[in-house]
Amino acid sequence: MNTIPLVALIGRPNVGKSTLFNRLTRRRDALVDPSPGVTRDRHYAKIDWEGHAFSLVDTGGIEEDDGLGGHIREQALVAVEEADIIFFLLDGREGLTPGDLEIAGLLRRSQKPVFPVVNKIDDADLENELLPPFWELGVDKVWPLSADHGYGFAELMSALLPLLNSEARHEELPENTLRVAFLGRPNVGKSSLINAITGESRMLVSEVAGTTRDAVDTRLSCGQYAYLLIDTAGIRRRGKTTDKLEKFSVLKTLGAIGRCDIALVLLDAGEGITEQDTKIISYAQEQGRALMVLINKWDLLERERKRQLQLLEEVREAVKFVSFAPILKVSAKNGRGIKRLFPEMGKIQRQFHSRFPTSALNRLLADAVAQHEPPLHRGRRLKFYYTVQLATAPPRFVVVSNAPRAVHFSYQRYLVNCFRDGLGLDRVPVQIFFRERS
Ligand code: GDP
Ligand code: GDP
Repeated sequence: MNTIPLVALIGRPNVGKSTLFNRLTRRRDALVDPSPGVTRDRHYAKIDWEGHAFSLVDTGGIEEDDGLGGHIREQALVAVEEADIIFFLLDGREGLTPGDLEIAGLLRRSQKPVFPVVNKIDDADLENELLPPFWELGVDKVWPLSADHGYGFAELMSALLPLLNSEARHEELPENTLRVAFLGRPNVGKSSLINAITGESRMLVSEVAGTTRDAVDTRLSCGQYAYLLIDTAGIRRRGKTTDKLEKFSVLKTLGAIGRCDIALVLLDAGEGITEQDTKIISYAQEQGRALMVLINKWDLLERERKRQLQLLEEVREAVKFVSFAPILKVSAKNGRGIKRLFPEMGKIQRQFHSRFPTSALNRLLADAVAQHEPPLHRGRRLKFYYTVQLATAPPRFVVVSNAPRAVHFSYQRYLVNCFRDGLGLDRVPVQIFFRERS
């Protein structure tokens, strides 16, 4: 299963989280993707590290501080639940603080791999001087690091690498299980829709106990697939916070995106599409997830034909950057559109996992280039030698070229469209990277 681990950076302000984040995101990968990123987010990035993809979140930046100091503690709790791997950053120059010890206590109880990283240790001398106090954390290993200068970075990364192997991280699910994440702002109707689905279809629903994650997941089976429905609204029902205090959690959303096959992003028909909605969609897009946009609460517009058309137009316009994503009108309240969800997900799933023979791909590439030659690059003809499929879920291809960095985004988009049409992949993201002949 192709899931993307979520690595969270937690720690007090000023320990060096964003410095480490920058060090990790600066590195250029050998695969070139000329498309401009949609979210320019300084706190979240998708990273390819020696062939392993992971999502990196700097929790210090993504969610607002409540000014009461409860922030880091709360971040640690969410990270423990949602992240797959945690980097707990400490400040070597400040030493261990009572707050650090409290966070360490929270983290110790989690089953997740936690790396206590003592930052601002710029060289070996400083390591001897500054590291010992941190043994008080009572952990097996403390990692010295200079996020700024790179000391200790290679060791830390080589310890991370084996954990990025996704096979090891996931609970056993029946084969052919489709994992569907319900995403969206609070109150768009995620939980209501899940309830409507499980009620309406009278499918086999089984209660699953176990991990915290499982507690809010619903399993069911329908047709040839088993489904795992991932509800990201779960936090509210467990916590002490009641209705109004409920906050949107980026970390929770990213965690769910990382472990789903299909992301269903819900919108509220009564409110229209907001910036937060498109942000959620772009997170799913960046992680290469299959995607559906559901305009929920369609019942609210039942008699307003004009508003319906207007809203559809607004939504189409706002989600143009994921033109492959079907847009469905649904209502958790009256059941509208729910029957269509499963056939639609089935189609998406088949496309998401399809594999294509190299010979067919190369014919497609040759035809595409013959139809529309790439522009000259510094007077030189851009050449594409061959293509192969790298992966499924999403379908991902590499095109080997004499000048991968010279391929323009618009030509990449042209090739993506040719592949889409030629391979019948109209409902899922298609990724093409360029690489030099090795
Ligand atoms: P954040 O609030 O946890 O994201 O911390 P920042 O990354 O913004 O870093 C806080 C301060 O620590 C900045 O002034 C950085 O330049 C400094 N800093 C970060 N990493 C290192 C390091 O490895 N060595 C030293 N000496 N300073 C660092
Ligand atoms: P969540 O926070 O995204 O899980 O949202 P909930 O499922 O808790 O729903 C939030 C509110 O919207 C509740 O009051 C629901 O009754 C209401 N709601 C959910 N779906 C619909 C719908 O399709 N139509 C209407 N009119 N209200 C809905």
